[in-house]
Amino acid sequence: MKDYYDILGVSKDARGDEIKKRFRELAIKYHPDRNPDNKEAEEKFKEINEAYSVLSDPKKRAQYDQFGVVDGSDGYSSEYDFADTFSDIFSNLSSVFGDIFGDYSYRRGPRPEKGDDIGMNLTIDFKEAVFGAKKEIKVKRRKTCPKCGGTGADKNGIETCSYCRGRGEISYSQGFFSVRKTCPKCGGKGVIITKKCTNCGGTGYIYEEEQLIVNIEQGIDNGDVLRITGKGNPGKNGGPDGDLYIYIHVKEHEFFKRKGRDINIEIPISITQATLGAVIKVPTIWGESEITIPPGTQNGDAFVLKHKGVELNGVRGKQTVKVKVVIPKQLTKRQRELLEELAKESGEDLSYKESILDKFKSMFK
Ligand SMILES: [Zn+2]
Ligand SMILES: [Zn+2]
Repeated sequence: MKDYYDILGVSKDARGDEIKKRFRELAIKYHPDRNPDNKEAEEKFKEINEAYSVLSDPKKRAQYDQFGVVDGSDGYSSEYDFADTFSDIFSNLSSVFGDIFGDYSYRRGPRPEKGDDIGMNLTIDFKEAVFGAKKEIKVKRRKTCPKCGGTGADKNGIETCSYCRGRGEISYSQGFFSVRKTCPKCGGKGVIITKKCTNCGGTGYIYEEEQLIVNIEQGIDNGDVLRITGKGNPGKNGGPDGDLYIYIHVKEHEFFKRKGRDINIEIPISITQATLGAVIKVPTIWGESEITIPPGTQNGDAFVLKHKGVELNGVRGKQTVKVKVVIPKQLTKRQRELLEELAKESGEDLSYKESILDKFKSMFK
């Protein structure tokens, strides 16, 4: 069993403000920001937080004094999850330190930060998406201004901050506590810029176009997003560079309509091919293929060509061929004679005036 009094180094009859004061001292001493990569300090920090969260609560403290355990406090044991209890710890800290804790933590210096991600659109052809391609792209990435080295100041336009005397922070006392605070005048930089760098306009960075070759994998689809690690904007304070996200837009093909791995295509056939049947050639993305149209094929009937679709991760989809029966708009004299012959053979009277619509109407009389 953990002795919370021992952990905080207070006596069993310590008053609330005494416990609070002791916790404050220990929290600063063992704060992870002050002890980077120190496992022992981290453990200690968790332990004092656990102890404080019990002893600062009169109800929990009474329970602990009587039974030696507190409901729900065992979560802090060996399988302590920092992320889960992160908010608990910081609510403890902020209740004790208030806002000044934020100022305190400033003193650890700038923390490495990952650079911003960049997003861009890339339009590719249908064929490039289906078979893959190498595409050259241009991306505007942020670079440190070479003229001012990132300070944003002109050569003679930089002065030491008079408010903090170049230290970037000021100290004052709040109660018994000495607090350091980021200098409000220079924002912690310790310097004041009196004349901005003309190259970057004072921002300290410029944008430079960079050429990249992007590998488009076979089978990529409209709406896919490629991520290129480390090609975003540069990281801050030694942090990693951001990533580049490329949003893929695939141009539509005139004939091939794609849906995932599958391809749909519409092929015109003649009335005689539809009626008598035929073997016809159809284009696929993999070259020419054949389908057999059986006699009596109707307009809109579909035929499937297996494994003629898009290949993605080694698996090929299918191609569906939908036939469209084309009615001839112009006939030679001979063609007309033959069709009239056909009509006669079928017993159709081509001069019959009653339309199909009239037939339907008569059905409902
Ligand atoms: Zn200053
Ligand atoms: Zn500059």
